[in-house]
Amino acid sequence: MGAGPAGLATAKNLGDADIPYDVVDRHDSPGGVWRYGEPGSTVYASTTMISSRRLIEFRGFAMPADWRDYPTHREALSYLVAYADHFRITPNLELGRGVASVRRCDDGWLVVLSDGTQRLYRGIVLATGHHWDPRSPDHPGTFDGTVLHSGDYRTPAMLAGLRVLVVGGGNSGSDIAVESARIADRTFQSLRHGYHYLPKYFWGKPIDEILAAMERWRFPAGVRRLVCSFISRAAFGDPSSFGLPRPSRRMLEGRVVLNSELVHQVASGAVTPKPGVSRLDGRQVHFDDGTVEDVDVIVHATGFHASVGVDDGGLGLGTTMHLHLVDERHDGVFYAGHIQPSGGTWQLFDDQGAIIAKIIASCSRDGRPSKPVRAVLAAYGPSDYLPPEAGRRGDPLRVDLYRYAALLRRLVRELSADDGLRRDVAP
Ligand SMILES: Cc1cc2nc3c(=O)[nH]c(=O)nc-3n(C[C@H](O)[C@H](O)[C@H](O)COP(=O)(O)OP(=O)(O)OC[C@H]3O[C@@H](n4cnc5c(N)ncnc54)[C@H](O)[C@@H]3O)c2cc1C
Repeated sequence: MGAGPAGLATAKNLGDADIPYDVVDRHDSPGGVWRYGEPGSTVYASTTMISSRRLIEFRGFAMPADWRDYPTHREALSYLVAYADHFRITPNLELGRGVASVRRCDDGWLVVLSDGTQRLYRGIVLATGHHWDPRSPDHPGTFDGTVLHSGDYRTPAMLAGLRVLVVGGGNSGSDIAVESARIADRTFQSLRHGYHYLPKYFWGKPIDEILAAMERWRFPAGVRRLVCSFISRAAFGDPSSFGLPRPSRRMLEGRVVLNSELVHQVASGAVTPKPGVSRLDGRQVHFDDGTVEDVDVIVHATGFHASVGVDDGGLGLGTTMHLHLVDERHDGVFYAGHIQPSGGTWQLFDDQGAIIAKIIASCSRDGRPSKPVRAVLAAYGPSDYLPPEAGRRGDPLRVDLYRYAALLRRLVRELSADDGLRRDVAP
C-alpha cells in the first residue's frame, strides 16, 4: 500500500525475489509526498531535500551526476518515476484507488479498496507514509487570521506583506521562517525549546556526507559531537546570543536542524524568536513570556500524526511493529517507511524491502515465516537501533540513522546467509 519511495523500494525487492505483488496508491501518480502540488503532497515549491544526493539515492540506481547535491522536489519525483520504470514496477502500479480497510481472514488478508473492490492477499506491506496527516497544536482562545499547516504551505507569496507566526523550529519550520523573512511584513518563530543548527555545507561538502564519514571512520560519539559543535559555532556563533533558546540536550542528541540561513535571519532581525504560545485572542497571539504580537497568519510546522492510514478493524496495526518492519502480533503484515531517522531514508527503505522479500520467501502457506527466519528477527530489538531519547519523547517512529542502517544491513546478510532459512519444509 503506497507508491511513495518506500512502496517503490519494496516493490523492486519483491520483483527481484520473484514474489508477485500489486502496488496500490490512493493518488493518481507515484512518488508519495514528492508529487508537489498534487493531493496528498506536503512539500512546498522551494523544497530541496535535506539529505544529499549520494546518501539518498537507491543503491544500484544513481541520481544523475550533474544534479545539485541536494535535489529539488522535482528532481526527487523524476528520479522516483525513473526508478519505477527502470525496475519494471510501473506496470504493477494501481493508482487512484486507496486501500480502505484490511481484515484478517483464514486465507490471509482481505483488502477492500476505496471503490469497494475486494482482494485477498497472503501478505500486506504498509508503505503508507507518515507526512500526510497534519498535527497541529490546540492553543486556547480563538484566532481571526489564517491558520495553515506546513503541509498546506506552498509558496512564499501566501505570506507576502503579512505578519506571520511560524510555530515550530524543525527543518520545515525553519525553512518556512526563512522564506517568510524575505517577503512578509514581520516573521515570528515560536520555539518551545532550543535546537542545534548545522549548515547544509561545510568545507564545500554536504554536511550529511561529513556526518556519514565520521560514522564510517568510527569516530566516538563525543568526538562527533565536538566536531559538529565546532562546525555549528564556526557557521553561526552562539545562536542564543541572538535570542534563540539554548538547547537543553547536547549536540546530536535528538534532531539537528539543517539550515544555513535561519540563524542569520534571526541575527539580522528578520525572524524574531518567541517562546510557546499561551493563548490566542482575535489577531493577537500571547506568548509564554507575557509578550503579545499582532499576527495575520499562523503556520503550524508541528509535524504529522504517525498513523498507518487504513481501517484495520481495531487490530492496532502500526502500534506493534517489531524492528519497525514486521508486526509482532500479525503474520503477513510488513511495514516499510514507518521510520524517522535524522537523515536520508531511501537507502533504508531499500534494505527494508530486501528484508521483507526474504521473510516472505520463507513463509509457509499460512503466512508464517520459517523458524530460522523468526529466530533471526527475534534476536534483535529496540536496544539495537533506537536512539536513547526515543522513549522519553514518545515518538514511535524515531530510529537512530546509523544504528538502524547497520541493523538492516546485518539482517540482509543474515537472512541471505543460508538457504536453510528460506523454508521450514519443501513447498
Ligand atoms: C518538506 C519535506 C521534506 C522532506 N525531506 C526529506 C529528505 O531530505 N530526506 C528524506 O529522507 N526524507 C525527507 N522527507 C520525508 C519523506 O516523507 C520521505 O522522503 C519519503 O517520501 C517517505 O516515503 P514513504 O513512501 O514512506 O511515504 P510517502 O512519500 O508519504 O508515500 C506514501 C504513499 O502512500 C499512499 N497512501 C497512503 N495511505 C494509503 C492508502 N490507505 N491506500 C493507498 N495508498 C495510500 C500515499 O498516497 C503516498 O503516495 C521530507 C518530507 C517533507 C514533507
